[in-house]
Amino acid sequence: MLLGTHVSIAGGYLNSLIEAKRLGIDAIQIFTKNQRFWQEKLVSEEEGDAFKNPLPKYGVQQAFSHAIYLISLGSENEDIVQKSLLSLVAEMERCRVLGLTHTVLHPGFAGKGTPKEAIRRILVTYKNGYPGNKRKPGKNPPGEHCRARFKYWWKDRIHRRND
Ligand SMILES: [Zn+2]
Repeated sequence: MLLGTHVSIAGGYLNSLIEAKRLGIDAIQIFTKNQRFWQEKLVSEEEGDAFKNPLPKYGVQQAFSHAIYLISLGSENEDIVQKSLLSLVAEMERCRVLGLTHTVLHPGFAGKGTPKEAIRRILVTYKNGYPGNKRKPGKNPPGEHCRARFKYWWKDRIHRRND
């Protein structure tokens, strides 16, 4: 059985591993960026390697992220849903670079509607990739399809922002 807790990345991702070793735990959860803001953080492959390669050295067998609390895929506000998707895609990309195997995600708030309505919005969002996308899902498994779609969508947005 693994024993773990949330550890801080203040001062750099490596500090979370130092803290894990100090605590004697073998599993950690981290925020990959400041959880209070929408602003994204890009992590280079070098930064990722500097975190994931020494995991065994610090005794960490399992490392995963906690997505920011602002994410609300069940929101009635389409702007919030779009921001949530953007943030989730960015989180998945940071997880890939940092070698984090999972992310913990709170689905968000139902707003004035019922939880059932919010769950339906979340499912539609997952299925379509993002609001307004009318293309039909391909043959890939739903998760893979969404991940690829979100990733493309996010990279496209970043690309456009940098033009
Ligand atoms: Zn949580």
